[in-house]
This record gives sequence, C-alpha cells and structure tokens, in this order.
Amino acid sequence: MDHLNIITIDGPAGAGKSTVSRELARRLGFRYLDTGAMYRGVAWAARRKGLDIRDKKALSELCNDLRLGFSGDRILVNGQDVSSFIRTPEMDRLSSEVSNVDVVRQYLTEIQRELGREGYLVAEGRDMGTVVFPQAAHKFFLTASAEERAQRRKMQTEYQGKEITHEEILAQIEARDLADSTRSIAPLQAALDCIVIDSSDLTVEDVLEKILSEI
Ligand code: C5P
Repeated sequence: MDHLNIITIDGPAGAGKSTVSRELARRLGFRYLDTGAMYRGVAWAARRKGLDIRDKKALSELCNDLRLGFSGDRILVNGQDVSSFIRTPEMDRLSSEVSNVDVVRQYLTEIQRELGREGYLVAEGRDMGTVVFPQAAHKFFLTASAEERAQRRKMQTEYQGKEITHEEILAQIEARDLADSTRSIAPLQAALDCIVIDSSDLTVEDVLEKILSEI
C-alpha cells in the first residue's frame, strides 16, 4: 500500500493533536482524519444500545451493523451527526474501553486504511504511525507534560461551561494515558521512526513550524 502522502500524528490525550492536525491538513490541502472520533462513535453507539463493553460478541455484532463516516469534520453514526455527544467525560472513558477490544480495532483499522487509500491525509490518533499506516511518509508523536495537558483541557471544559477541578482532569488524563499505553493491542507508543515533539512550552504555531520544516 502506498502511504507516501500520509502524515501521522499520534500522542496522548490533550497534547494538542487535533488543533495541530486540522490546521496542518488545511495548510497542506490534505484531508484530516480524526480516528479518536471514530472510537468515540463506536462507544456512543454501544452506550446507546446499552451494551456491556466486555461483551465481545455484542460489540462485534454492533460493528458489523454500524455505518460510520464523516461529513466534513462531523462524525456520523448510522447517518446521525453525533459530534456534539461524543466529547464528554463518559465518552472519554468508554472510548478508551472499547478501544481495547480487538474486534473494534480491526473494524476501525480497516475503515481507516480505506480512507487513507488515496493519500493526501493527516491521520491523528494513537496507533497511526505504528499500526494503521506504518509506511507513512512522515510520522510525529506529539506530547506534553500531564500537568500542561490537564491545564489545557481545563480551559477547554470551562469554555464549554462545565465545572471540573484541575485535579479531577489530571486524574482522568493520567488514567486514560495509563490504559491507552499499557493495553495489549496497538498501545499508545511512539513509532521507532517518528519525530517526537514536546509541546509543553510551545504554541500551536511553533509546533506547526516544526512539523512543516521536517516535511
Ligand atoms: O483522541 P481521542 O481522545 O478522541 O480518543 C479517544 C480514545 O480513543 C482514546 O483514549 C484511545 O483510547 C482511543 N483511540 C485509540 N486509537 C486511536 C485513536 C483513539 O485507541 N487511533
């Protein structure tokens, strides 16, 4: 498979991947693929059906019947725009749980590769450079200290009018990082051939400049 025109951006929660990836895609005239939204979409569908996340057979059936797609930046589950329902603390947790189930990963990996077939794509997630597009032309791992990521998340949630303390957010972020990086399948890790960028003390523009200078 030709992965020449694919740029992957992986990293932990709250490292600024979405902002950077979306803007990078815009500047390059590439498409942007938010794979976290896909795991969130599956989590939302499972929750809606009241499924037990540990029930692999039920999740497998759910995936078989699911129509998951994008319309611009909006994520559609069976034709319904669920974008505004998938960014809640409950979906943070549930998406991380479904992402640990092999049938869900197989299902989404296949769709992601299909979406990447034509190239010219900035793919953002946890396993883009390691599993889904191992031959991507440019791979980045964007990270930041947990303190900094919690701080950014707090500003985001305040903006959305939700109340949560810094300590609560930090604990949630650390729990999700631990689950994502210690799972047995496609764990969150930097690809051997990726460029690691620590954005703790960088602005979005600084990160974009670094990426653009590499490519
Ligand atoms: O990136 P975002 O926070 O939206 O991702 C939600 C969850 O989906 C992550 O915590 C992670 O468990 C899972 N995920 C994944 N692989 C990806 C993208 C997201 O396992 N490529």
